[in-house]
Amino acid sequence: MTRRVAIVTGGSRGIGRGIVVALADAGYDIAVNYASNATAAQEVCDKVKELGGRGVAVQADIARTADRQRLVDETLAAFGRIDLLVNNAGVAPSVRADILEAGEESFDRLIGINLKGPYFLTQLVARSMIEQIAAGTVTEPKIVVVSSISAYTASINRGDYCVSKAGLAMLVKLFAARLAEHGINVYEIRPGVIETDMTSAVKERYDNLIIDQGLTPIRRWGQPDDVGRAVVAVATDLLPFSTGQVLDVDGGFHLRTL
Ligand code: NAP
Repeated sequence: MTRRVAIVTGGSRGIGRGIVVALADAGYDIAVNYASNATAAQEVCDKVKELGGRGVAVQADIARTADRQRLVDETLAAFGRIDLLVNNAGVAPSVRADILEAGEESFDRLIGINLKGPYFLTQLVARSMIEQIAAGTVTEPKIVVVSSISAYTASINRGDYCVSKAGLAMLVKLFAARLAEHGINVYEIRPGVIETDMTSAVKERYDNLIIDQGLTPIRRWGQPDDVGRAVVAVATDLLPFSTGQVLDVDGGFHLRTL
């Protein structure tokens, strides 16, 4: 049976790794994109192989135009099709700074990687998907964007991150509206607090907030596999009449309670 193919940006570690493993288990071959950690990307590809799939590690900085093109080209060279794009790669500010002090350098870096990268990679992959549909290579391909609860939660010491994630929410609406006529559904997955390298520096603080103070109704850290399973639901066609849809994978953080 032909296996479907996904590109997962930032697939080498954390949430991206969880998505790759879940997709491989669900029958996908995967282009595992990474920025600099080749060893981690290769380990994930080995895991994909263990699960019966093919994984190819592709180094590409998604903030760079030429790298995005190369990511798509190398994926097509390896597998000949793209059924799913998961825009997952993202970075937090190197230093958290109050919005009255925070500088332009951090803003430009975060917008470049977290927003501009996914925006133009989605454009590139969507064009390719439209061609592949016309050629009969793929049917009903999909696009997923991993945003964050920061898309709507104001954290005044990392405004650049919040703005980049709020922008992703609009990216999803725009491409969902544009691509529906081609049968390409677009989904936003909004993780809450997930245990990865990104959150390791604030582990103690969040242990206290989540477990002791009940920040989330489900009192535990989210795991990369929680996000991986949500992506699999989309990737295995379980939401065919939904596009532009937001899936909160956040332990109920978004609920207002009284
Ligand atoms: P992470 O553990 O820091 O992993 C980041 C991943 O992104 C790595 O695979 C890294 O590659 C890759 N990456 C970084 N910059 C890149 C670039 N310019 N081009 C290509 N790849 C790049 O982060 P994470 O916690 O898994 O977060 C993944 C996504 O989920 C991010 O978009 C983040 O904003 C979002 N998110 C995270 C949380 C959370 O609590 N952890 C919550 C909500 C949303 P290398 O291995 O090569 O460095």
